[in-house]
Amino acid sequence: MGLRRTSWVQLYALCRRAPLSTAPAAREQPAAGPGAEPVCGPGETARPPVPAVDFGNTQEAYRSRRSWELARSLLVLSLCASPALLARHEQLLHLARKLLGQRLFNTLMKMTFYGQFVAGEDQESIRPLIQHNKAFGVGSILDYGVEEDLTPEEAERTEMESCSSALERDGRGVSKREKQFQAHRAFRDRRDGVTRARTYFCASEAKCDSHMETFLRCIEASGGASEDGFSAIKLTALGRPQFLLQFSDVLTKWRRFFHHVAAEQGKAGLAAVDTKLEVAALQESVVKMGIASRAEIEDWFTAETLGESGTLDLLDWCSLIDSRTELSRQLAVPNTQTGRLEPLLSQFTEEEERQMARVLQRVGVLAEKASQAGVRLMVDAEQTYFQPAISRLTLETQRRFNTERPLVFNTFQCYLRDAYDNVSLDVELARREGWCFGAKLVRGAYMAQERARALEVGYEDPINPTYEATSAVYHRCLDYVLEELKHNARAAVMVASHNEGTVRFTLRRMEELGLHPADRQVYFGQLLGMCDQISFPLGQAGFPVYKYVPYGPVMEVLPYLSRRALENSGVMKGAQRERQLLWQELKRRLCTGSLFHQPA
Ligand SMILES: Cc1cc2nc3c(=O)[nH]c(=O)nc-3n(C[C@H](O)[C@H](O)[C@H](O)COP(=O)(O)OP(=O)(O)OC[C@H]3O[C@@H](n4cnc5c(N)ncnc54)[C@H](O)[C@@H]3O)c2cc1C
Repeated sequence: MGLRRTSWVQLYALCRRAPLSTAPAAREQPAAGPGAEPVCGPGETARPPVPAVDFGNTQEAYRSRRSWELARSLLVLSLCASPALLARHEQLLHLARKLLGQRLFNTLMKMTFYGQFVAGEDQESIRPLIQHNKAFGVGSILDYGVEEDLTPEEAERTEMESCSSALERDGRGVSKREKQFQAHRAFRDRRDGVTRARTYFCASEAKCDSHMETFLRCIEASGGASEDGFSAIKLTALGRPQFLLQFSDVLTKWRRFFHHVAAEQGKAGLAAVDTKLEVAALQESVVKMGIASRAEIEDWFTAETLGESGTLDLLDWCSLIDSRTELSRQLAVPNTQTGRLEPLLSQFTEEEERQMARVLQRVGVLAEKASQAGVRLMVDAEQTYFQPAISRLTLETQRRFNTERPLVFNTFQCYLRDAYDNVSLDVELARREGWCFGAKLVRGAYMAQERARALEVGYEDPINPTYEATSAVYHRCLDYVLEELKHNARAAVMVASHNEGTVRFTLRRMEELGLHPADRQVYFGQLLGMCDQISFPLGQAGFPVYKYVPYGPVMEVLPYLSRRALENSGVMKGAQRERQLLWQELKRRLCTGSLFHQPA
């Protein structure tokens, strides 16, 4: 066990050279898949006028659905709206299983919750649904929805072990990580308070490898099921949480240091993308903190790194930190309170360093596979204490694979206070470095858990104070990205929301900016079983729209399903309207004698 001195640049280089065994031969330039976005810019060909989208016309919205499917949706969504039922749903499921036996229970689930939210058990059985939706203009983002059904005790043990380093566990190293980036016993079961997401507990490298194999099969299935599909992955499934926590802490502290110096220079409160530091003063702070010596610093800030301006922004700063600091120094981070550089952890083992390289390798393997299968990869956003690392690793993969078109999409959660900075910095970086920006914008699925954790552990709540603030940030971020799309035909965004107002906002801005649906730069995304009244009118009008399509055996997707039910209970603003529209359409069919409607 020794102190390692590898730089991130070397680490990434190592990953490129040494793909995991399942990886096909390395290929830096991904081939455009069958569903590739046209590289021509908007306005080059004559296009049909964009049809108006009517979200209130239930006859059109539910054209693809039989009446019994509408009745099932109404039943399931109404059950989800009952707080009493939701509070006891786990006990009720358990009881039903005991009374009915496994086979009858499976049948009951397939007729109700599972049938509503899950596409099928495996790659074969989901094909008809995927093809059916496709025929009505709605694509699929495959999401293998299996998670480990651990008991709370097992989840706690696994989480506490996998969130601390070898040295922390055996008591030889004291963690200097901030409270936000340490494992906390009260929040050891990450599934608590999560409404949408699957949860992974990556206890060992073998487990991470097996998750990667699962994702590879999912990418294959996406490629086989449709010509322009997406596949969703989660990075917490591919690396030990302890690494993601440490890396997130490091990234956050370096970023905070930049803002600290900005405040010293009287530039607090500006958007990150607009904050430019005077280099002379920055050099002083860097030397004062012992980050580099005066001699070294001369080397850092050359005319090449600074350009003409003599100032430096956050992106310049991050790339300097990446290229100039050794890994062991990266893990020594500036403490802006004491004004000194502190080791994050007194020692970092060789094995732990290898773990970092392996996460990058695994993501690389998946991106290679996606590129070959003509499938785009969507990296889900997760909890704030993992997210800086997830975003950084995704960014590295985008640099490598988004050379011709956006193959890898990062996810930005707009309920976060720093969402606008995160989005605008990535857009700017892609612009500067010349790779294709690809992003999914969501509001965020972990609100209750994030708030409770911040309160209990004692750090600032990372979530916007109100729903209205989250919506305002969402629209601000979206607007920024749409402006970029107007000038850059190789960038793309997915508006992943069930919110009719947000979808209408997007359609209006697309029209104003001249972004045509045929350019396939703006995608829409909803979850399977939710808000068909938004997805199908969009698809039928020619807008690229996708459903997140989970699949997996009944018992294995149950934990995921039960949280999906929770989402419909209170967090979703449009849940009640959806039930009204379903009821309206059922009544219409009854009155017009079209109850036996056959989707054609
Ligand atoms: C295709 C797709 C992919 C997704 N992928 C991810 C992902 O990778 N990561 C992820 O975290 N989520 C993901 N989600 C879930 C998403 O973040 C939301 O939880 C969900 O879509 C509900 O938001 P909405 O815009 O659809 O609906 P709305 O009803 O308009 O918004 C509800 C959301 O608003 C926010 N909110 C509600 N109340 C408040 C409040 N008081 N203060 C501040 N904010 C509030 C919360 O984020 C809540 O989920 C995905 C959703 C879709 C459709």
